[in-house]
Amino acid sequence: VQSMMAASTAPPCGRVALFPLPYHGHITPMLRLAAILHSRGFSITVLHTDLHAPDPAVHPPDYRFVSVPDDTPPELAASEDVVALVESLNESCAAPFGDRVREMVVREEEEGGVLRCVIADVMWYAPAAAARELGVPVVAMMTSSASSFRTFMEYPALLERGFLPMNETKEEDIVDILAPFRVKDLQRIDTSNLFGFANMLESVVAGARLSSGLILNTFDFIEADNICWIHDELSITVFSVGPLNKLTPFVGNNFLPEDRDCLKWLDKQAPCSVLYVSFGSVATMDSHEFLEMAWGLADTKQPFLWVVRPSLIRGVSLNPDELPGALLEEINGRGKIIPWAPQEEVLCHPSIYAFVTHNGWNSMIESISEGVPMICKPCFGDQKGNARYVCDVWGVGVELEVGSVVQRAMIQAAVDKLVNGKEGKEVKQRMQDLKIEAEKCISKGGSSEASLCKLVDSVISF
Ligand code: UDP
Repeated sequence: VQSMMAASTAPPCGRVALFPLPYHGHITPMLRLAAILHSRGFSITVLHTDLHAPDPAVHPPDYRFVSVPDDTPPELAASEDVVALVESLNESCAAPFGDRVREMVVREEEEGGVLRCVIADVMWYAPAAAARELGVPVVAMMTSSASSFRTFMEYPALLERGFLPMNETKEEDIVDILAPFRVKDLQRIDTSNLFGFANMLESVVAGARLSSGLILNTFDFIEADNICWIHDELSITVFSVGPLNKLTPFVGNNFLPEDRDCLKWLDKQAPCSVLYVSFGSVATMDSHEFLEMAWGLADTKQPFLWVVRPSLIRGVSLNPDELPGALLEEINGRGKIIPWAPQEEVLCHPSIYAFVTHNGWNSMIESISEGVPMICKPCFGDQKGNARYVCDVWGVGVELEVGSVVQRAMIQAAVDKLVNGKEGKEVKQRMQDLKIEAEKCISKGGSSEASLCKLVDSVISF
């Protein structure tokens, strides 16, 4: 009787457990997906590491949060060694994750519910294997682009065909199996651990192959070819459900407090005049590059809003008042430096003209969603490839002509291209058109809406 009573109160769709990788750019899209599934009738459990644990208070009260101990040494958590961190997280979390999933299955049975599946970041190959061993279906989620996942899949071929390790004489060559990427656009890490990186990607792709589907925060209009290719090669369903940021409001996953006063500052600026500058949550630069960037922005004579996180400049915690006097004089009144922005609200503010970005995938998708042209200054990982699509495929941005380091004149040149002249007008128009296509994808009858319905149906069928 008890179980029948419990069954009558259990939500009709069942429970979905989500496990994001503890990086800002990975947690946000997965929590957005959680919110969407919740709104479509699923109960939600968020499994999380202690590293960057989400705040339950900002989520619906019926969400469950379950901690998975990760044993990450603090120096590794703060380091830029992605391979070591991802491997360490996978090793330390796999067994406790399996235990948590087992407990969830039992609890659901006791409560008359059902755990439909685990949605795990595709980088969680070891915990995903642990869930599959328990007979729980795993749907993988790639929080970056389809082109990025395709690169993961092509890594063995890139090594075999000599595109990597990168050799300077070949850096401009087009990679025929991943066009339009040039060799220098490929994701790679320093040569000393390139094979460690390749091994990690092999585990990631092998895990995805065994999963019950792959979710991507992208949309068919911009990445149809890559989405189809992945589907054909993996022989699993690919759900391209983006842009997720337009389907659900921001879910409060900030690592730093937002400076909301910047919105009032934006209110005082002329329409379509401000450059918004941000390099996301991970990228860093040295102090020389930072000063060149600051002078470059000052020289444009455009108003600008610049996110300078405490960790942006390597080895320096910036106090904007301590910038050189001449630079401060140039910046004052026209420029505003803040530690963290409510980015999505900034991007849709009418005063924003362009986004100087590191081309992190979330930032790109948010920029496209608001129709803001980009000035690309990619730093590492998938960002160089993302910039290639922005500038050469979709034509919705221009690239800083960066050799190895930023020089102030490059900023002026890129802004000139975008603000003045024919190219800027065309870029802006194409970006407006792309924004409309993004809206169509998530509207009734659009590809992302159809993919989301398919995802919901699949999860219910598990
Ligand atoms: N972001 C933000 N405020 C900032 C800077 C970034 O809210 O001041 C958010 C941004 O909206 C995006 C995420 O942080 O959702 C950054 O993710 P992205 O993939 O662009 O870059 P990453 O941080 O992973 O390099």
